[in-house]
Amino acid sequence: MFNKNRTYEQHDNEKISFYKSSVEDLNSQDQLTSDIDADICIIGGGLTGISSAINLSKKGYSVILCEARKIGWGASGRNGGQLGIGMRKDQYTIEKKLGLRHAKELWNLGLEAVDDVKNLIRENEINCHLINGVLSAACFEKDIEEYKFEIEHMSKYYNFEGYRFYDKLEIRKEINSKMYLAGMLNSGSYHLNPLKLTIGLAKIAKNKNVKIFENTPIEKIYEKSDRVHVVSKKGLIRANKVVVACNGYLDSILGSKKNKFIPINNYVVATEPLGEKEAREIIKNNYAVCDTRFIIDYYRFSEDWRMIFGGGETFTSNFVKNAKSFASNRMVKVFPQLKNIKIDYSWGGTLAITVNRLPHFGTLMNNKVSYAFGYSGHGLALSVLAGKLIAENINGHPERFKFFSDINHMSIPFGSIFRRPIYSSAILYYKIRDYLNS
Ligand SMILES: Cc1cc2nc3c(=O)[nH]c(=O)nc-3n(C[C@H](O)[C@H](O)[C@H](O)COP(=O)(O)OP(=O)(O)OC[C@H]3O[C@@H](n4cnc5c(N)ncnc54)[C@H](O)[C@@H]3O)c2cc1C
Repeated sequence: MFNKNRTYEQHDNEKISFYKSSVEDLNSQDQLTSDIDADICIIGGGLTGISSAINLSKKGYSVILCEARKIGWGASGRNGGQLGIGMRKDQYTIEKKLGLRHAKELWNLGLEAVDDVKNLIRENEINCHLINGVLSAACFEKDIEEYKFEIEHMSKYYNFEGYRFYDKLEIRKEINSKMYLAGMLNSGSYHLNPLKLTIGLAKIAKNKNVKIFENTPIEKIYEKSDRVHVVSKKGLIRANKVVVACNGYLDSILGSKKNKFIPINNYVVATEPLGEKEAREIIKNNYAVCDTRFIIDYYRFSEDWRMIFGGGETFTSNFVKNAKSFASNRMVKVFPQLKNIKIDYSWGGTLAITVNRLPHFGTLMNNKVSYAFGYSGHGLALSVLAGKLIAENINGHPERFKFFSDINHMSIPFGSIFRRPIYSSAILYYKIRDYLNS
């Protein structure tokens, strides 16, 4: 196990991820060497921060972005690459919580999020290997009825025809595993190399004159007359507005707001390249896949036909030293035929999960500080959208930002002490449930 004081320090034990090996770092030459003024200071160099930077600089603000490590160091450069529409929870559950009208607004924003990412990729020729189709694979009998219900519900109330049901025979033709009882294809969703996307977007931000300070951890922020002071060891940034975009790596910058989410560590492996023919014998149409368990397996093939397989979680502040066995054991359970395949890379990442699984947006210090976190494992598209909505809010148009900031989020009771243990008991319960049902 590996433990460091700051969450952004916890990957120091790793060698390299597949994504890191696939693209050159941004290596921003900007350096913070003295105190400086700016319209906007953004803390966190993942997709939320970079998207905020692009959108705010487009509106004419001078923007500084501070990242504790390198651009894409956090979840944005470590994730499963599934670019999904919607939210982490199904629409029916969201309707029950927020009502049909609000749920529909979120659905439309979820569609817009994926469209925005696709447009950014196309317009800026970001070579991040976008592939269509994400399959949900059923582990439990009850999933079959749930799929059928969702397909009908989404067609009737949302006019959405992008889902397709697969029975047991069909899913086994699609995915060469005996694990699954049925499936549901989502043709509105995609998969891609997330670090290539993150670095591609950071380059756009740089072209728009955003100053990017890497290796610049922020220690604290405080309100001083009509500005916010952002404190780092290398200098003070005096900003009119601040965006906090640290997601699962948020420590104490927003005070007790960190109790609105539970940070969890999730692990991924990349095999050696299998070649297209062998890969398509495993996933015929090269879709990304995620299953229906609480602790999900998610996987897909990379641009060079490696199986990228994620699964297995830890929930303490300790990070496993070697993520390899965590995810590869799960992979071999699903695909015994991969037992002797070499694992070339293994890594982990930290994400923020909220109690209701919806993202948490908000403002502090008289609207001078904005934040967004808690995408609950569904943040690849939503984090890019968050940056756009934060920019709209800062620019005096809070209407769409409010679709998220109006959502009520439960705090974890005595969060600083209990948020990880509470989740660990929940995980234990669901692990047993997953085991008994499988
Ligand atoms: C293993 C894994 C698999 C996932 N798979 C998927 C998936 O397939 N599909 C999907 O939609 N979502 C997935 N997610 C979630 C998704 O990656 C995140 O929701 C999204 O990347 C969040 O982006 P972000 O910019 O908000 O946060 P991050 O990308 O985590 O960026 C936060 C940044 O803040 C920096 N930071 C923290 N503290 C400070 C400080 N004090 N000063 C300066 N900088 C600081 C960190 O170093 C980090 O780079 C996954 C996440 C993980 C970990």
